[in-house]
Amino acid sequence: DEREETTDAETVLELDGLTRRYGIETAVEDFSLSVGQGELLTLLGPSGCGKTTTLRMIAGLEQPSSGSIRIGGETVADGSTATPPEERDVGLVFQEFALFPHLTVGENITFGIDDWEQERQQERLAELLALVDLEEHEDKYPDALSGGQQQRVALARSLAPEPDILLLDEPFSNLDVRLRIDMRQEVRRILKEAGVTAISVTHDQEEALSISDRVAIMSDGHLEQVGKPELVFENPESRFVASFLGRASFLTGRVRGETVETELEQLETAQLNGPVDAYDGAQIDILVRPDDLEAVPATDGSADGEVVHRQYNGPNFVYGVELTDGTTLRCLHNHVEVFEHGQPVEVSITADHDLAWYPTEETDI
Ligand code: ATP
Repeated sequence: DEREETTDAETVLELDGLTRRYGIETAVEDFSLSVGQGELLTLLGPSGCGKTTTLRMIAGLEQPSSGSIRIGGETVADGSTATPPEERDVGLVFQEFALFPHLTVGENITFGIDDWEQERQQERLAELLALVDLEEHEDKYPDALSGGQQQRVALARSLAPEPDILLLDEPFSNLDVRLRIDMRQEVRRILKEAGVTAISVTHDQEEALSISDRVAIMSDGHLEQVGKPELVFENPESRFVASFLGRASFLTGRVRGETVETELEQLETAQLNGPVDAYDGAQIDILVRPDDLEAVPATDGSADGEVVHRQYNGPNFVYGVELTDGTTLRCLHNHVEVFEHGQPVEVSITADHDLAWYPTEETDI
């Protein structure tokens, strides 16, 4: 299944049946995943779904209740092994960066390699300063740096000892919104240039989709789905993933042979992202995101529904359109004309990709 593919690269990290309980609560349950050399994978999920616990187990700060962790082919945690954090080749970048205020940028970066021979240390420092674009700032103290620069120092410091794996815990949460967006591509560039295997944690779906090679979506301690950003966004395997990754509306349809009847136009089953034969005669829910739909003012008798809310986003509007069957669809609208509340509109499906669908609860077969 291409949605679950890993990279062709050699496996660096292997989680197998990883479970962590706290008393009667299960924070992480039966989590299995392989991460390839040089890959940037993000754990994404709502608060409390077990992302941090997973990261802490990889780092060795927490022991799994059951299951195992292998790093570079070596078991570091299972029923009988618990390699301490300092003996795992794992670097950590914390959300608050945790720079030493009394050390310069250069001293911060070499902190973890001060047992290296002086010349090698200085070479590595020069390499890292160039990588994070801070050559001019080597002698400054952290409080003289911007948030983005501090983040780059934190990255360079964690990369200095050349870890097998770099773990990043909500690495952007300490930056203001604008900078956070700018830093995404910068952090991705640095990690890619360093060639390090990285696991990052976030609850921000846009960040996960924009920086990652693959995204692993978690819910309630479980791995829901893992795959490339475009694949998980367009082919979410569950309603939870569909709704968590972006605005999602569900259009009800009834399968009739090769076609699907909906409140809007009739679709061909070939427009769906998977075979639907088993649901012939039954109802299904089709995922439609705002940019899959277009609303235009209705002409006589052509109305599919009426406008029930609108959200202005600067570059566009998103309108909520209530269909006659009571479902509300969100439609993206890029034009200057503004629809009024209650205005009858015609909605068409303009998606240029196959549509994901789910069996409707009561017709689940
Ligand atoms: P957030 O995004 O809020 O950090 P998260 O996805 O990282 O959330 P975790 O911090 O891994 O979630 O927590 C998962 C679950 O395990 C939560 O219900 C949490 O209350 C529980 N939990 C985590 N650490 C402990 C602990 N030390 N003792 C008891 N329960 C814990």
